[in-house]
Amino acid sequence: MNVAFKQPIKPRHSLDSIAEALLLPSGIDGVYARTAVFEQVADGLAALISRYRETDTEVLRFPPVMSRRQLEKSGYLKSFPHFLGCVSCLAGDESHIRSSVERYEAGEDWTGGLAAADLVLSPAACYPVYPLVASRGGVPAGGLIFDVACDCFRREPSKLLDRLQSFRMREYVCIGSPEQIQNFRARWMKRAEGFAGQLALPYRIEQASDPFFGRGGKMMAMSQVEQELKFELLIPVHSDEQPTACMSFNCHRDHFGATWNLRTASGATAHTGCVAFGIDRLALALFVTHGVELAQWPTRVRQALMV
Ligand code: ATP
Ligand code: ZN
Repeated sequence: MNVAFKQPIKPRHSLDSIAEALLLPSGIDGVYARTAVFEQVADGLAALISRYRETDTEVLRFPPVMSRRQLEKSGYLKSFPHFLGCVSCLAGDESHIRSSVERYEAGEDWTGGLAAADLVLSPAACYPVYPLVASRGGVPAGGLIFDVACDCFRREPSKLLDRLQSFRMREYVCIGSPEQIQNFRARWMKRAEGFAGQLALPYRIEQASDPFFGRGGKMMAMSQVEQELKFELLIPVHSDEQPTACMSFNCHRDHFGATWNLRTASGATAHTGCVAFGIDRLALALFVTHGVELAQWPTRVRQALMV
């Protein structure tokens, strides 16, 4: 289904000119140094998203690493093992570590001495929230809302500027009854239209599925679509035909509630949902739409972002 984009589509600015001006190569696909102008827009987005925060939302900022055990328990290895980055370190006694260093100095492969640590690189911002809530006890009758963010890693190297290995994700997360989650997501899908409108970004919202691993993954993706668990806000970055997902609206049903034994006031297993903002993709979409010169951007967009 190809629905028209909301807002007029202007001619896009070239991704090459954006790369040259704003994202400096690191030698590794999907990993860039961001210039001051890019960061100005990323900061503006973060502040604008904060202004959309609902009352009684708890703000948490997570580091780029999280507990390996927690991510394992969350089922990540079942769904997305191909994306996972695990921290590994030179462990053992001094002589063991020294022998790895000597192998490196001799020009040999030294990485055999690495051992998996108890940390993984966070693949999404919301995973640490659920065990944290579980450690505090039950979920109150009104439900809970969190504002979380972290640098995320996904092993999907690509030359495309909108498919990074290291990128920033901001999320609002809701924990509560099935009805509270549905309302939360419906509110945010409506609100996202105002957000894109404020930024004069062409967009459409469509149903989507996650890139689950392997053959079994196709079934999981089909079931996700059938149950309408994921929607995305799409913006034409490369082309109108293959627009880029810059936000997602997710319902996890009772997956995290059952995993972490999260209970609502009535004693039922809590449901959860999240709305995720891809900060780097949104910034890129803004540059593609309005150009690399902030001074040329529409006034209302500059005002919204305070740039
Ligand atoms: P979960 O339901 O597991 O919590 P999520 O909703 O947090 O997943 P996604 O929907 O996969 O995670 O990603 C959220 C947003 O992060 C995407 O809409 C996109 O904007 C951004 N994103 C995802 N992958 C990449 C990537 N490789 N490069 C840049 N941005 C990305
Ligand atoms: Zn999430």
